[in-house]
Amino acid sequence: MKFFIIFIALVISSCDSSKNTESIKIGSKETEYLEIKNFSDNLKAKNIILVIGDGLALNQITLSRIAIGGFDHRLFIDQLPYHGTSLTHSYDNVYTDSAAAATTWATGQKTKIKYLSINHKKEELRTITEMLDTKGYVSGVVATSSVTHATPAAFYAHTDNRYDYKDIANQLIYSPIEIALGGGEKFFDIDKITSTHHVITSSESLGKKLEFSKRIIGLFDKDGIERSDKNPTQRQMTNFALQHLKDKCNGFFLMTEGSQIDWAGHDNNASEMIEEFRDFDLTIKDLINFVNENKETLLIVTSDHETGGLQILRQNDDNVVIQWGTGRHTSIPVGVQAYGPGAELFQGLMDNTDIHYKILNAIDYKNLKNQSCNTE
Ligand SMILES: [Zn+2]
Repeated sequence: MKFFIIFIALVISSCDSSKNTESIKIGSKETEYLEIKNFSDNLKAKNIILVIGDGLALNQITLSRIAIGGFDHRLFIDQLPYHGTSLTHSYDNVYTDSAAAATTWATGQKTKIKYLSINHKKEELRTITEMLDTKGYVSGVVATSSVTHATPAAFYAHTDNRYDYKDIANQLIYSPIEIALGGGEKFFDIDKITSTHHVITSSESLGKKLEFSKRIIGLFDKDGIERSDKNPTQRQMTNFALQHLKDKCNGFFLMTEGSQIDWAGHDNNASEMIEEFRDFDLTIKDLINFVNENKETLLIVTSDHETGGLQILRQNDDNVVIQWGTGRHTSIPVGVQAYGPGAELFQGLMDNTDIHYKILNAIDYKNLKNQSCNTE
């Protein structure tokens, strides 16, 4: 009997060690330190930029740091001066998907998996972009997935099915979103929307300074944006959206998502995850510089959940050995990083719903006057 138990234990442990491990080379890029200004506490922000790394917890950031520049390297996300931690569970489950998670930032309430900006009873919840629209703000969403994907969609759509992309696309057209950039061309009837929206489909347009009288939808791929030279990066789309939003009306809200960090996690593909992270981190670099110049913008970075149960196991010469635990999301808490006026609010342990209220607090929402913005 004893021998049998030892045999079983050996089988289990050998199964475990035979799980897919992979070696990732330790990088040597030098840290590029950015200027980080001192914003005193209790300053009110005018503009909000919320950056989401889908499927990005501290383990993904750690592996990216090691792969890019080694253990002591400092990424751009590392240089954000305030760091906190966010819990991610959904309304009735330790597990969350992007829909339920993004609903928390958009509305301040938890909901069920697959639901977008409705509560567990399917009652519609007002999103932050709808709230800010009544205060004369403009809003934008950027994603490297489609613009109808769960994270951007939670900021303008209300549905119990995040996969009903055509309905979500239709809701985008009638929402207050001033600019939406990403993939998802196949979900739109382009001819129908040109009366209300300027539609751009080529990344070349992002390099130009364009004056548009209509709202903007940029659709750069049929569904999620494939990485290629002809397609825009998160960084390019985010900078274009910022240029468009920055001097309009009473202020702006921009959500920009590195969507495919999550997809690489589902595929347990570390090199792809790191490539996606690079674009995400360069986006943060430009946003830190934007905050330095603009001085009225609060930058917040967080994630919806961890994806893949990524573990960094040990060092093997100039490599680290990693292992994935699952092809799904996990309940590992995620980081929250912030910079700019009001950034000090984003410290310590918080729930994902708290981020919504902290944003409202940072812009002094309750004292903003009702007014509309004529964007023309
Ligand atoms: Zn996912």
